[in-house]
Amino acid sequence: MPQPQVKVNRKGALRVESGHPWIFRGDITDTGEAAAGDAVTVADPRGRILGTAHYSAASQIALRMLSSRVEAIDRPFLMNRLKVAAGFRSRVVADSDAFRVVYSEADQLPGLIVDKYADHLVIQALDQGMDRLTADLVSCLDEQFAPKVIVGRYDAAVRKLEALPQEKKVLLGDPPEPIQVRMNGLSLSVDLVGGQKTGVFLDQRENYAAAARWARGKALDCFTCTGGFALHMASGCEWVEAVDSSTSALAIAETNARNNAITNIHFREANAFDLLAGHAAANRKFQTIVLDPPAFAKSRANLEGAIRGYKEINLRALQLLEPAGILITCSCSHHMSEAALLEAVAEAALDARRRLRVLERRTQALDHPILLTVPETHYLKCLILQATN
Ligand code: SAH
Repeated sequence: MPQPQVKVNRKGALRVESGHPWIFRGDITDTGEAAAGDAVTVADPRGRILGTAHYSAASQIALRMLSSRVEAIDRPFLMNRLKVAAGFRSRVVADSDAFRVVYSEADQLPGLIVDKYADHLVIQALDQGMDRLTADLVSCLDEQFAPKVIVGRYDAAVRKLEALPQEKKVLLGDPPEPIQVRMNGLSLSVDLVGGQKTGVFLDQRENYAAAARWARGKALDCFTCTGGFALHMASGCEWVEAVDSSTSALAIAETNARNNAITNIHFREANAFDLLAGHAAANRKFQTIVLDPPAFAKSRANLEGAIRGYKEINLRALQLLEPAGILITCSCSHHMSEAALLEAVAEAALDARRRLRVLERRTQALDHPILLTVPETHYLKCLILQATN
């Protein structure tokens, strides 16, 4: 059966021609027979074919391009895209059996995320098209990776925009217990269904290793969650104080430390803002400080507030930093550009009367590739700075 055809206006067509896979609802001129989650052929105002997309009947992002050709979005198509994605990971992932196999737009599978945690897979279908393909996806992933378990984390908030239910379900195998994965020589505990998040941040993997290379002395890891930075830095440091406001995250962090025979991390449950202020009042000093807060800017609308938040927290950290100390400061919000983060940290440094040298300007690990023409694929910034006074 031929695919339904959807017509778009000039603006929508230009967007695709400029390398971006999304077409907004306002740029559609005729939806034809397209129904929620259909693979459709996309045509420009002159009837020229732009390729194949998934159609969403709910989201403002009405079309997500899957291919620049007219082709069936079936099992062979998915299998081919999966093989290409897996091949790339085998080139860029080292010393880890936990990594992102499919990163949505960046792998020409918009709306799909697949993460591999040892012999377990976690998939997220974030639009109506991918949601409908779940059975095919499970079958393809089974063929490609022969996993023990596939978990569907279908509980992401963005599914609401697609009028899809929010749920977690085991799609293959038995409901998993927390498992152990390897990352940069560490063994880390992951709860694939129980936690709010899985507890392991795959996108920071390369930044953890970089932090481990610079960290020394007495270190402070704010927003430690399950201990990512602290565990990696411990061997190079005298000790690490690791802080988070979540009791359950800290419990996993402590288990991780025990499982790796690391004894020089002191975990503390606290509000990081208060803790930094308290340390400043007590004139405490650290040679290494990590700031990896949750996304302050969840949308463009609260960017101003987010910039103030980043400035504030960096200012407080700089007041605690020893001369020649290392500041590792991250932002995981796409809306906060690297330039904006650099500016916020520069303002904090001026206020704190500190001079900072940029050692490394880092981003998300390579298994979360950034597509040059799709700025949304770039979200993680990790700056490694050194005070020169
Ligand atoms: N650095 C971590 C990831 C941090 S995610 C890693 O690499 O594993 C953000 C964390 O900030 C979450 O664990 C959350 O519990 C914590 N958090 C949010 N607000 C906080 C606050 N005000 N004080 C301390 N921790 C906070």
